Amino acid sequence: MKEDFRVVRARWIVPVSSPPLQNGWIRYGTTKIQEIGSGEPPADAVDLGDVAILPRLINSHTHLEFSDHESPVGSPGVSFSEWIKLVIASRGLSNPDSLLSSLTSGLNELWQTGTVLAGDIATPPLHYPAWKDQPDLVSFAEVLGLQSDRFNDRFQAAIEHADRLEKGAYSPHAPYSISRDGFEKVIEHALVKNRPVAMHIAESPEERELLTSGTGPLAELLDTMNLSPLEHYPWRGEPFRVLIDGLGQQDSGFLIHGNDLTADEIEYLTRYPRLTVVYCPRTHDFFRFAKHPVDKMVNAGIRVALGTDSRASNPDLNLWKEVQYLLNHRQEIPPEEILAMATSVPADAFQRACPSLRPSGQLRAGFRSDFGVVETHATESEQLWRDLSTHPYCIPALI
Ligand SMILES: [Zn+2]
Repeated sequence: MKEDFRVVRARWIVPVSSPPLQNGWIRYGTTKIQEIGSGEPPADAVDLGDVAILPRLINSHTHLEFSDHESPVGSPGVSFSEWIKLVIASRGLSNPDSLLSSLTSGLNELWQTGTVLAGDIATPPLHYPAWKDQPDLVSFAEVLGLQSDRFNDRFQAAIEHADRLEKGAYSPHAPYSISRDGFEKVIEHALVKNRPVAMHIAESPEERELLTSGTGPLAELLDTMNLSPLEHYPWRGEPFRVLIDGLGQQDSGFLIHGNDLTADEIEYLTRYPRLTVVYCPRTHDFFRFAKHPVDKMVNAGIRVALGTDSRASNPDLNLWKEVQYLLNHRQEIPPEEILAMATSVPADAFQRACPSLRPSGQLRAGFRSDFGVVETHATESEQLWRDLSTHPYCIPALI
């Protein structure tokens, strides 16, 4: 059957893989882009007018289980260990019905705000609701447990989750919630199974204190949970290098946060070109952590992608607002690189791990043909980036 092609034109096309095109047009079919051009559009082009057309977005890190939170847990600036305590308490209130409604509203919110692919951290067993319009998910089964019986139980559940899903993956939760031995077991298993791995690493200075000294607020929290921190901490050697080595050897490793990595550790990351750091700007801001070293990472050539994290630390799951946060607050980073963090960089990392995913994150021939638009009257690219930093990302009804 012959495919129907349509053509749209707009004031700007932002392909991501190449510089923005003024007066651009796109010819596309139901699933794929066929051709992109600029100047006089083909006669059958539908004019979208004063907008920039962009690819749909990719959210590298969220926890859809928490999507029913109307607002973040705790107040801005809450200490990390206090926040963990509040999240554990709020988790105790959930049941299977509330989990399903949380997943449904999270998936809806991702889709409506332009996200076509997301990395979701899931507590197994977990079943996603399925319907036609929803983003693709790479589902990272969370494994935690400092004590071996808890770890073994969670690891087994994670293996079943990852084996059941075509795009299943693993997430040893964080070095303050899994033992070093447990971390190594998950990493080894993921490597053998060739599945992606994501882990929260260097999120807070409290984590560094626990790993290097076995003391501080996280040690006190573990103590109140009868988890004997001194049996597990401090880690010998250089804990953050151990964690980076574990993730870096994977075909597709996602180091979530990295807020608190030192200059030496950032340099160490460059050994692993397949590793992706995921920065969650508004969640980072919620905790009032010290300035994120994303500029140093970009300068060192490290792959950086963006995530929203969950509604337990962010008011919504709108990835465009993360892009805008960076466009407005981190102007030392070229805007093209910021946009790539929400499109082409994570697309490449997820696609490498899950080849069945449709090519996404760029506007070019062969890539998926669903787009977003942002209003702009710009006549040059500097103004275009300013407009992108202030105007919302919308999904045109036409497409
Ligand atoms: Zn997270």
